[in-house]
Amino acid sequence: MRLNSLQLVNFRNYDNLYLEFNKKVNLLVGKNGQGKTNIVESIYMLSFGKSFRTSKDKEIVKFETENLYVGGNFSKEHTNGLIEVAIGKNKKGIKVNKIHIQKIYELLGNINVVIFSPEDLRLVKEGPKERRSFIDKEISQIMPKYYNYLTNYNKILFQRNQLLKSKNVDSALLDVYDESLAKYGSYIYILRRDFIKKIANISKNLHEKLTGGIEELSITYKNQLNICDEDTTSTVYNKFIEKLMSNREHDIETRTTRYGLHKDDLNIYINGLDVRLYGSQGQQRTASISLKLSEIELINNEVGEYPILILDDVFSELDETRQKLLVDNLNVVQMFITTAEIAHKNIFDKSNTTIFNIESGHVINIE
Ligand code: ATP
Ligand code: MG
Repeated sequence: MRLNSLQLVNFRNYDNLYLEFNKKVNLLVGKNGQGKTNIVESIYMLSFGKSFRTSKDKEIVKFETENLYVGGNFSKEHTNGLIEVAIGKNKKGIKVNKIHIQKIYELLGNINVVIFSPEDLRLVKEGPKERRSFIDKEISQIMPKYYNYLTNYNKILFQRNQLLKSKNVDSALLDVYDESLAKYGSYIYILRRDFIKKIANISKNLHEKLTGGIEELSITYKNQLNICDEDTTSTVYNKFIEKLMSNREHDIETRTTRYGLHKDDLNIYINGLDVRLYGSQGQQRTASISLKLSEIELINNEVGEYPILILDDVFSELDETRQKLLVDNLNVVQMFITTAEIAHKNIFDKSNTTIFNIESGHVINIE
């Protein structure tokens, strides 16, 4: 999968920009604040329909203008396509091959993008919320209906918590919420279990490569229901209902839902030790890279095509050896790398690299 070209109108600090991309490596080079991340942000929008930096569409529209447009032409093994996002005052439209879509999940999966930013280097170190958000984004890309399940789950969870905060909790209504929560929850639990199992395998191999075989990375699913491989949707449903029922008094007392997949996390071990507690900074960072980049192989396994990889500002955070390992190991994917400077030009193969030099919202030259 690759992005052939990109058109931006009134996107952040760009008035009007048209770029054609290299099939392999695209380096976006420029000083701070010039518009490198803005370009990859727009590419991300083609995949997810929204920014990864803000949930407020208004912020990405160029100051003092009203109508924004992002269009991208992409190729897959057997098809070509066009994704377009337009944002105007109080309106937003997304088209796939000139046809308006109604729901975000119709967009997901057209262009698969894996984005790696400096925050991802802390994926292992951060709290469970960040890891859950990682899991959710990745599964949604591979399986758009997951996104729907999750939206429904969160909606019901919110309503349930509202009800728990009311003066007199209506237990019949609570029953209804519990059933819905367990219904969507059980789908999500199973999908998360299966995803984590796959990503654990891939990241184990990748980590072995990145550490020269010294470290064994082990990732497992941490959840309150002790979900096992044999569990089916209906067994998970029953487990979940049971938990909710037996904790109802407690939930009413504390006015919040104690059990559910909103408490999930990952157990991450290196050579048998919990890397969050005992790992060095470097080990935590490398484990984060292995975990995050395992999506690339996973998407290829599930979708049959490699995703587009965006490395926003992470490149300069890696030492030369790791930069080279990364570029060499990922030579099958189209990459967009933003960086203030290229310290080790020799790691890129000139014949399949294009350098875009960026200055205050303009691509001033292409090498
Ligand atoms: P760094 O190396 O620091 O990450 P960068 O090149 O990635 O820098 P970007 O984040 O792409 O920088 O661009 C930031 C610039 O975009 C800032 O100068 C900011 O003022 C400008 N900018 C952000 N939003 C808008 C907007 N809505 N309209 C116009 N300009 C904007
Ligand atoms: Mg940036």
